[in-house]
Amino acid sequence: MNWKGHVILGIIMGLPFISSPEQIFLVVAGALYPDLDHDVKSEIVNRGLYIAGGFLALLILSYLFKPAFFNLDYFIAAVLTAVIYAIPYYADHRGLTHTFVAMILGSIALGYIVLKLSILSPIIACIIALIMVTNDKLLAKTISIAVASWVAFYFLIPPVLNLNGLAFYVVPIFMGYLSHIVGDCITPMGCKALYPLKRTLRKPEAIVMGILWLLGVIYVHKIL
Ligand SMILES: [Zn+2]
Repeated sequence: MNWKGHVILGIIMGLPFISSPEQIFLVVAGALYPDLDHDVKSEIVNRGLYIAGGFLALLILSYLFKPAFFNLDYFIAAVLTAVIYAIPYYADHRGLTHTFVAMILGSIALGYIVLKLSILSPIIACIIALIMVTNDKLLAKTISIAVASWVAFYFLIPPVLNLNGLAFYVVPIFMGYLSHIVGDCITPMGCKALYPLKRTLRKPEAIVMGILWLLGVIYVHKIL
């Protein structure tokens, strides 16, 4: 599935689970992250690794020479940033980033980073998450699609889920990520999402995940 398909499926699957406009950027970030394992995305991954390495070096230096400036939360966020980029750097295409293990770890790691950045402003923090997984061209296109779809959804179905703290950031990323795995399972190549098991998930499993998602929507929106 190409980036457009992943963004659209991500928005469809993510919108029912968000309550605030900036969360839509996290849904899209989650939907785009797994394909960072693609060779054409190596510039994004390399950029991320350099930035994470720079922050880590800065934090280690401040710990050694100016301990008053050292902040453990930011150190953890910098380590997680390095991990987030190291996974697609070493993974084969449709390898580790396309698994449920990476979905859980990646959503929590990116959610934690965004939570720490949210002291700047939650909107800026969520846009940074999207910047982290896109290049300028993709960023411009996805931001406009994300904003337009959120506005349309807001008037159709008012948001109901009110999340706080880490969950506010993790859940939208998780939904976007899940949509990516569902989207790739539908393709002929399938997806080995059950790592460390070798089983390839295809259309039938994608349908099961779709039904589970639908049950989640029904539960959250108290439809039945
Ligand atoms: Zn993919």
